[in-house]
Amino acid sequence: MTQLHFNEAVYQCEPGESVLDALTRQGVSIPSSCRNGVCQTCMMQSADANVPSAAQNGLKSTLQAQNYFLACVCRPTTDMDISLPDSSDRLLPATVTALRQLNDEVVCVGLDCPSLPDYRAGQFINVYRDTGFSRSYSLASVPSDPYLRLHVRRLPAGRMSNWVHDELKIGDSLHISAPVGACFYLPGAAQQPLLLIGTGSGLAPLMGILRDALNQQHAGAIHLYHGSRDAAGLYLVDELREMAAQHPHFHYTPCVSGGSASSIHQPGRAVDVALAAHPDLTGWRVYLCGNPDMVKSARKKAYLAKAAMNDIHADAFVRVAAANQ
Ligand SMILES: Cc1cc2nc3c(=O)[nH]c(=O)nc-3n(C[C@H](O)[C@H](O)[C@H](O)COP(=O)(O)OP(=O)(O)OC[C@H]3O[C@@H](n4cnc5c(N)ncnc54)[C@H](O)[C@@H]3O)c2cc1C
Repeated sequence: MTQLHFNEAVYQCEPGESVLDALTRQGVSIPSSCRNGVCQTCMMQSADANVPSAAQNGLKSTLQAQNYFLACVCRPTTDMDISLPDSSDRLLPATVTALRQLNDEVVCVGLDCPSLPDYRAGQFINVYRDTGFSRSYSLASVPSDPYLRLHVRRLPAGRMSNWVHDELKIGDSLHISAPVGACFYLPGAAQQPLLLIGTGSGLAPLMGILRDALNQQHAGAIHLYHGSRDAAGLYLVDELREMAAQHPHFHYTPCVSGGSASSIHQPGRAVDVALAAHPDLTGWRVYLCGNPDMVKSARKKAYLAKAAMNDIHADAFVRVAAANQ
């Protein structure tokens, strides 16, 4: 058993228990969302450097050096003296500048955030409905765009996504976090072929990555496979076809897993269609975004197709844990 010193009180942490679970169990409310070490909503700071390294995975080195850590995956082995960063350090004010329905279930939200730090296309932000309730959304925009763009898919009974679809209006103010995440385009290796596979609103980060790669004169072939269960779930089809017509080295394949062949899309799961067309991924860079099960299985398949592990970049849209619903 270790002790957590927080806000002038002491809390017990069972062996193997996370800091977040220990505090929540003892009635302390900490902002959190995915509880999976991804979204960084539950970031805390330790007064000492006794932070388990696994609790700092994915944090910028400047944050790691200041003993910041993710409470949901921090399982202490010694007592810790911890605090929450000031919310004014974490939350950036933003204004809704655009709302555009991309299909029946996905809306594109434009956000203006004057205090936004530099970001990479494909990273994600946390959008706060209020200070204690947030969800992660990937950036479909590139830094040169006049505003941030998100693709928010409506989920049945989804609290954030239905609020965005039904209540958010142009001109509304809200708060977001600074962009985080390691799934983005890196310039260099301009001849390397790129394989982009996404399902549903997993197209959002891929749009950012694609546009960034084209803006940065990526010369190698770029193949985008966007999958959906039915044709109605596809979106930005005309825009992507137009981009493919303008850039001969960019190839776009919409895929529908629950239907038969058609003139506008390929039948089958995006990952299967992609790997049937590109069975040997030696030397490729691969981006996988969207449904966590798809991302997990595609990562394995890409590795078996000889993509190098450090050339596989992924953003799994992990669900908010039941404990946080
Ligand atoms: C790094 C990251 C990036 C993300 N980027 C995007 C993005 O660009 N666009 C986007 O639309 N979403 C994205 N998500 C998912 C998003 O953060 C929310 O989880 C999603 O919008 C649902 O939130 P909600 O509050 O509406 O649903 P909740 O109220 O949390 O959940 C409602 C119900 O839906 C179920 N559920 C939750 N998530 C899913 C899911 N993905 N598929 C099926 N059922 C689910 C829950 O189990 C629950 O029963 C991302 C997630 C992560 C971690």
